Amino acid sequence: MIRELSGTRPLSVILKPVPDELLSSWITRHADFYGVPPLTMLRHAIPEATSLWQADTHLRPTAAVHIARLFRSESSTILAMTTSGFPQSAARFVAPRAIQCCIACSEQNSLRGAATAVQRSWIEGWRITCPVCRQRQQDKKEGASAPTSSLSPFEDLWVDAIQ
Ligand SMILES: [Zn+2]
Repeated sequence: MIRELSGTRPLSVILKPVPDELLSSWITRHADFYGVPPLTMLRHAIPEATSLWQADTHLRPTAAVHIARLFRSESSTILAMTTSGFPQSAARFVAPRAIQCCIACSEQNSLRGAATAVQRSWIEGWRITCPVCRQRQQDKKEGASAPTSSLSPFEDLWVDAIQ
């Protein structure tokens, strides 16, 4: 049971989301700012929340209203930061963590003071270009901090793929 809207008080400081930011990323950045665990931050808006991943992938409209209130935002904006509205055919290709990134956007995010931001498109397995800047997404290798695009077995097909 979700508590009444009046129970969720907006945060005093709101960090601006970066373009295409994933909801869990935005929540985590706020959690870091306020010095609490990310799930604690999410539960501030939705006490019954079980995981950030659940919020990213199965956020209900009523829950989005509560999160929007906490972050002084609109519920439509919150829902757009998730994959909740994706058809099942696309939802199957949503990765549980960032599997790729956009180097250009990462640099811009760092300049905005959001170096740890994760974009929604980074978990979308079908994407090959960034929806923000149209640059090519770079693969992230498990445990590696740097992209590994130069190791892609499909490197030779890139020019054909974008035509
Ligand atoms: Zn980009």
